[in-house]
Amino acid sequence: MDTPVGVWNYVRGFENLSLCDWPGRATCIIFLGGCNLHCPTCHNHELAWDMQSLPAIDKTRITSYLRDRAGWLDGVTITGGEPTLVPALGELLMEIRKVGLPIKIDTNGMRPDIVAELLECNLADVFAVDVKGPYAKYPALTGHAVSEIAAKANLERIFRIAQAKPEAFYFRTTQVPGLTDSDIETAQSYLPLDYELKIQQYVPPRRKTEHAQSDHETRRPVGNVVN
Ligand code: SF4
Repeated sequence: MDTPVGVWNYVRGFENLSLCDWPGRATCIIFLGGCNLHCPTCHNHELAWDMQSLPAIDKTRITSYLRDRAGWLDGVTITGGEPTLVPALGELLMEIRKVGLPIKIDTNGMRPDIVAELLECNLADVFAVDVKGPYAKYPALTGHAVSEIAAKANLERIFRIAQAKPEAFYFRTTQVPGLTDSDIETAQSYLPLDYELKIQQYVPPRRKTEHAQSDHETRRPVGNVVN
């Protein structure tokens, strides 16, 4: 395989079918390496902080799969790591648009300008945004990668974007150790009216030898790389 370039160098995982990632849809999932946070509960630490330790997925395998299976899929999920960090992300999204599939992007919400830009360019249909907990707990929840002030500013910008386009967002929290029911209520209170915070149960990571890899805190094995 040639050395991947551009956005394809960040594609470090591919799951060919998921029935639970995007509620109500059968999707495939593309995993992109790199993250701007350092959450101590991350299941995806290799992907987030050491993507070079994972093999890159060949572009043609993904584009062929999308072309051949587009009629059987209801969409594509882009997850990480943090997809909004990836340079030339639009190139990958345009490949998906070529086969006419809707796109969901998972994000920690810390790059709202990129979220707004992707929506404006019609390169994404839905964003699943993590609201990790009360703003005051963001430093602890993110390995001190984000201050309380920055978390509040970024998420409030995301909420304003969501108010203008409510069908394009949903919000979720993983109840990681140390996050209380009261914290979850606080996180819920940040959301614009009519949004319900989706609560995900935290599952402790498995041993490294099991190749655990998941979207954000919730375990999701990669396994099914297209061959
Ligand atoms: S949990 Fe998500 S946001 Fe946090 S470090 Fe891992 S991939 Fe990044």
